[in-house]
Amino acid sequence: MLAASASLLAVAPAHAGDLATTAAALRDKALADSTAWDVVESLTTEIGPRPTGSPAAARARDWAVAKFKALGFENVKVEPFETRSWLRGQESAEVVAPYPQPLHILGLGGSAQTPKGGLEAEVALFKSLAELQAQPPGALTGKIVVVTEKMTRTMDGSGYGAINPLRTLGPIEASKRGAVAYLHRSLSTDDTRLPHTGAMRPWGDVKPIPAAALSTPDAELLEHLAARGQPVRIKLSMTSTVLEKAPAWNVSGEIRGSEAPDEVIIIGGHLDSWDPGTGAIDDGAGVAITTAAAKLIGELPKHPRRTIRVVMWGSEEQGGAGEAYAAAHKDELPKVVLVGESDEGAGRIWKVALPKGAAGAPQMKTFASVLPPLKAFVADDPSRFGGSDVFPMVMAGAPVVDMQQDASRYFDWHHSADDTLDKIDPGEMAQNVAAWASFLYIVADSDIDFRALSAEAK
Ligand code: ZN
Ligand code: ZN
Repeated sequence: MLAASASLLAVAPAHAGDLATTAAALRDKALADSTAWDVVESLTTEIGPRPTGSPAAARARDWAVAKFKALGFENVKVEPFETRSWLRGQESAEVVAPYPQPLHILGLGGSAQTPKGGLEAEVALFKSLAELQAQPPGALTGKIVVVTEKMTRTMDGSGYGAINPLRTLGPIEASKRGAVAYLHRSLSTDDTRLPHTGAMRPWGDVKPIPAAALSTPDAELLEHLAARGQPVRIKLSMTSTVLEKAPAWNVSGEIRGSEAPDEVIIIGGHLDSWDPGTGAIDDGAGVAITTAAAKLIGELPKHPRRTIRVVMWGSEEQGGAGEAYAAAHKDELPKVVLVGESDEGAGRIWKVALPKGAAGAPQMKTFASVLPPLKAFVADDPSRFGGSDVFPMVMAGAPVVDMQQDASRYFDWHHSADDTLDKIDPGEMAQNVAAWASFLYIVADSDIDFRALSAEAK
């Protein structure tokens, strides 16, 4: 009898009612709070674009330290690491035959430069990456490969995952077949004439060639030109700078736990961005949402039991931040309660995926009970990924949460000059903060053990 009630107590904290009341109060406070908006407004206005290896990335580091301190975070840390950086130079492209006219492009992170003065060649156009991959080795010698496959708009962002190899792998596939350059239709759901950049995979032992994204109307223009049946010729000029060991930094701040400060919940967003926009939705929003959620919890009369650490990862787009963070914190990993990242824009959260076996835990039922006013729910399927900056910790065994955002419009602006502050709806952003704040509070002020729940569920 005694043993039974003791184990019940272990499962259901004595203050379950308090957890629900405080989580709901945090949710409502977050919905009326402007901290997240103020943070992303500050970052985009005072720093702007901040690619890895740029002077702006160093300014963003200093901004992050100052912001954490101003918002009352403790234990503010700058953790340096080195990673590869690709910085854009001059870029231009034009059709020279049969009907001369300019094209709108953006080079991909990892692209080679053109020879001085540019290169000119005939186009080989394919409607899909699979069509390109069906070409035998050497079949495209001397050609500029153009692939015009379209991206599908989806709420959960899966359309981006499906088309991703067009950008990340396409240049390598073209080079393997002898192409001198690679152009692809932007990974975009919009129809503006702004191209969308992004990184490609490392070349490995394949010869690097110039590789760039075309705006979606430019990709369609090339389809119309190719349909005329005459050879289409393009002139391309691209320069860039590569730093093999660019300095980069992960910056973090904490809301220290009141009873078990060594038990840590690690969340955040990435501070670096691509260069054409101001990095508002990718990922100023994620930095702002997680910072604001933790800050609201820090303002409670008493800090929750466990520590909440917000990390602004310093090189997501070009890679290296998540790996550096996981390596630097590997000894701490057994004490890491949960990890999570906000990196899908500023659209509202609609579904929350929890670690395997957690949805039935009383604390997570409490969390589910505060979600309906936010029009969000706890998913049946478990969390898997969390975000590229936390994924190395997930691979090493850290439990992860996936706060899934409505990404319906995200890929209209993502990695383009249109990634700017005006694309953020303050109300939707506040809804994100409300979901994160109530969730983080419940996890931080309980003793929920996601590893044990996951082991039991097996
Ligand atoms: Zn991102
Ligand atoms: Zn991105």
